[in-house]
Amino acid sequence: AKSQGRGNFQFFSSSMNRATHERLLMENRLSQALEKQEFELYLQPQVAMTDGRIIGAEALLRWHHPELGMISPDRFIPIAEESGLILPLGDWVLRRAAQLLVTWREQGLGHLRLAVNLSARQCRGTSLVPLLDKLLADNGIAAAQLELEITESAAMQDPESSRTLLQALRARGIKVAIDDFGTGYSSLSYLKEFKLDRLKIDRSFVKDIETDPNDAVIVSATIALAHSLGLEVTAEGVETEAQRAFLCSKGCETAQGYLFAKPMPVEQFEAMAAAITA
Ligand code: C2E
Ligand code: CA
Ligand code: CA
Ligand code: CA
Repeated sequence: AKSQGRGNFQFFSSSMNRATHERLLMENRLSQALEKQEFELYLQPQVAMTDGRIIGAEALLRWHHPELGMISPDRFIPIAEESGLILPLGDWVLRRAAQLLVTWREQGLGHLRLAVNLSARQCRGTSLVPLLDKLLADNGIAAAQLELEITESAAMQDPESSRTLLQALRARGIKVAIDDFGTGYSSLSYLKEFKLDRLKIDRSFVKDIETDPNDAVIVSATIALAHSLGLEVTAEGVETEAQRAFLCSKGCETAQGYLFAKPMPVEQFEAMAAAITA
């Protein structure tokens, strides 16, 4: 029995080694990716629910690895988060976002808002607010043009520091959206304690809105709750006209989804926004 136990242990340990090895390989590639400029921001339009007018965009990270091709953020963000690489990567995203807002002003697109995702580590750290202050001041950016998206689960990892962060952002006029709403296990009480501007309804609720009465009820109630707390609502993952019509009838202000546009390279988004603005 003893030798069998040891055999099992060896088997277990070698498969763990492989996972660990792949993990380290990925971490290594990730840390080089920043220097090698393999990251790019894609933009997905955020539109007014009533008429589809573009009101802004969400910045979504893309990693082009020379051999592995395009790697999804769902694969590399968790690794970046755990290894701490998310901090330099998150800074890169914010710097790039600031550049974009400068170009937009020059291109006559200064009315558009840019939403940027924050990770849990960025929310907990102390360097975010000073960086934002520097970026806004150096580039003459109006704070209200920037919106930061924080997931419910990231915000609740450390509610005390989140509250401090959200107060600092509010004091500067930077907008804050709560992302992936309803997917965590947190209580609703933070909605009134935290200073938020927007609630984003997760795609998992929007997906079956037409066929699942429970999802329809949850979405209607979420929109009503958000409005009663003074938050605007954005629905994510809107793919069909029927979904749009339902959300519109419930007073949901804005939408993101393949019905309107997929995430796209910056130049493509700018051409699209300019064509509509002209
Ligand atoms: P998220 O913040 O919830 O972003 C929305 C995701 O839904 C995006 O996936 C977007 O491409 C996708 N999506 C939008 N509309 C539709 C639709 O109609 N149908 C379907 N099926 N999907 C739609 P993406 O770009 O793969 O990003 C995945 C996640 O990675 C994001 O989820 C976010 O949590 C994370 N992420 C992306 N960029 C960043 C970043 O710069 N920083 C951090 N911390 N996280 C990021
Ligand atoms: Ca988001
Ligand atoms: Ca989301
Ligand atoms: Ca999500």
